[in-house]
Amino acid sequence: MLLASLREQVCAAAVRSYRSGLVRGTSGNWSARDPLTGLVAVTPSGLAYEKMTPEDIVVVNLDGEVVEGGRRPSSELPMHLVIYRRRPDVGGIAHTHSPYATALAVLERELPPVLIEMALVGTRVPVAPFAMPGTPEVGEAAVAALAEAQACLLARHGVVAVGRTVEEATLTAARVEEMAQIYHLAAQLGSPEPIPAEVMETLVRKYRGQ
Ligand code: 13P
Ligand code: ZN
Repeated sequence: MLLASLREQVCAAAVRSYRSGLVRGTSGNWSARDPLTGLVAVTPSGLAYEKMTPEDIVVVNLDGEVVEGGRRPSSELPMHLVIYRRRPDVGGIAHTHSPYATALAVLERELPPVLIEMALVGTRVPVAPFAMPGTPEVGEAAVAALAEAQACLLARHGVVAVGRTVEEATLTAARVEEMAQIYHLAAQLGSPEPIPAEVMETLVRKYRGQ
């Protein structure tokens, strides 16, 4: 099997996310780029996560042509490919419809920096303007928003997180959901104020180890 270890990583990230409630049904998709060949391993479209195995992960090139795999690649492959083309530093992508973060995406409201963990993602999680699902325009909108953070909300749709690896991207997607949930809870108790910009900048530097 071509890119066996990368396909295992993509499958494991998707199944783990499903089991932890980050996605339901068949929503969401995951991918990773092989640094040597530039090929991309991506989850198949519409396959139940309980049934997903590494063999189901599809290997494509950056033009979206299937190199190996018997299934149809994710319908959001154009988004993944735009991000990989425009961001050579990105090695993995996680896309979810996780409920608390997606509730903000529905309102087209960014996730503000109300928690210290935000510094691991950026100084806020911005919203990418709406684009038709399954089109490269979703990727273009995401790339612009991802210039600011390791994740963004897709207006009326969900979350996209990027990382050096698919594990890193998945951890970020989970972190965004946790922050959105805590933000929601805090908003029931009072008015969560953002952490001041200068404190956020210090936190970002601290977490980067500078
Ligand atoms: P796929 O099953 O085709 O990956 O689609 C899921 C999704 O989240 C579409 O935006
Ligand atoms: Zn989606």
